[in-house]
Amino acid sequence: MTKPGYRIDPADPEAFRRAFHELADACLDRVAQARELPWIAKPADMAETVALVSDEPGLGEAELFAMMRGEVMPYATGNTHPRFFGWVHGTGQPVGVAAEMVAAAMNSNLGGRDHGAMAVEQAVIDWSQRQAGLPEGASGVLTTGTSQATILALSAARMKLFGDAVRKDGIAGLGRIRVYSVTGAHACIEKAMEVMGHGSRAVRHIPQGPDGAMDMEALEAAIAEDRAARILPMAVVGTAGSVNTGTFDRLDAIAGLCGREGLWFHVDGAFGFWAVLAEDPWRELVRGVDRADSIAADFHKWIGVPYDCGMVLIRDGDLHRRTFSTRPAYLEGQGAGLGGGETWFTDYGLELSRGFRALKVWAAIKAAGVPALSATITDNCRQATLMAELIEASEVLELAQPVQANVCCFYLTRGEASAVATALQLSGEAVFSTTTLNGRECLRAAIVNHRTTEEDIRLAVAAVEREVLAVEV
Ligand SMILES: *Cc1c(COP(=O)(O)O)cnc(C)c1O
Repeated sequence: MTKPGYRIDPADPEAFRRAFHELADACLDRVAQARELPWIAKPADMAETVALVSDEPGLGEAELFAMMRGEVMPYATGNTHPRFFGWVHGTGQPVGVAAEMVAAAMNSNLGGRDHGAMAVEQAVIDWSQRQAGLPEGASGVLTTGTSQATILALSAARMKLFGDAVRKDGIAGLGRIRVYSVTGAHACIEKAMEVMGHGSRAVRHIPQGPDGAMDMEALEAAIAEDRAARILPMAVVGTAGSVNTGTFDRLDAIAGLCGREGLWFHVDGAFGFWAVLAEDPWRELVRGVDRADSIAADFHKWIGVPYDCGMVLIRDGDLHRRTFSTRPAYLEGQGAGLGGGETWFTDYGLELSRGFRALKVWAAIKAAGVPALSATITDNCRQATLMAELIEASEVLELAQPVQANVCCFYLTRGEASAVATALQLSGEAVFSTTTLNGRECLRAAIVNHRTTEEDIRLAVAAVEREVLAVEV
């Protein structure tokens, strides 16, 4: 018999507590063994194992927890491992596991209202704005990631260009607009223009100069050409850390040009924004980021917060609010009580109901402290430089382009990069991803990993060399 009110809550709180503690220990074991736990392939029948049937019977907590431990938890992405360098995947801080638990226990909704979780998100935004060097009056909101942050930023840019009426009138009368970004910039910019109704053709790619940064003369020429063709330039996106090759646009130069041309200056700093915390010469790569109208960045990449959390910062906080604020009668603020509170985050983005992502970010900053975060980011840049040195010293590997910060791409003199990447993923030795540069496939490492040591870099490169040497010539 179920006790009234305990259909969902555990009927035996003591048994639940014991099972929960065991599960917590298993999570902590996983965190403690991160160095020994690379990606492993999921079982072929995983889909059947986890399938939910229409009349799923209740399993009970103890059995459920055992299933999560045994049949779900081992098959993670593997980015908690020190030799995971694929794509751009953050490693995740152990305190984030605890913060996620606290956030779930509180189960706060950060759309708005007056409660403690709101103060924590505001603290994270204020801290980030200070790191960016944005002035008082700037605003921000946490998002799932940079993709969503980009939609928010470019929507604010559109409000600035066309005025508040665009919210009522839509885009039908606006004509063609243009957003500029460097060749190799992230596809989330196109996606943003698609969902905003302008289409991906609204994004014009500007070639890279010799150092990988956007060619500023080509940008100026493209703007003039578009104006002559009655295509209205709206914004320039400066990429701080391109996803493919890790190159940085010259943000200062873009800021100057946007000032002269009256364009919105957005920075895609998904991972590279956090070079603001690095030592020189890497800090220098983001000089000018304080002049941005908007910045998108992720906490789940280089700050190492468990997935997911990104943010948008907007210089003109009032414009940001006007772009998204909608308060029907049932959401109208009250002066005091839970319905009060000055800032409601729903006024700054697309979501009404929002989780307490801010807690794991706040915890990551509080626990490690800025000096440790800074040192980690600087170390990762040094490690990418070391990797490049090892590649240059290698008989069988060839650096594809100079390393600017934390991304290192290199060719193999024989064999296929994708085959080597797969072999090392399957052996659990290292995770590289692949890309194509100058028409040639290469291995790519993006190091945003606080567990990586110099030894890990040496081991990973040695493993690649061994695989290449094993290829028959
Ligand atoms: C990862 C990344 C994005 C997308 O961010 P998400 O958080 O995955 O949405 C955008 N731009 C760059 C440069 C990235 O590295």
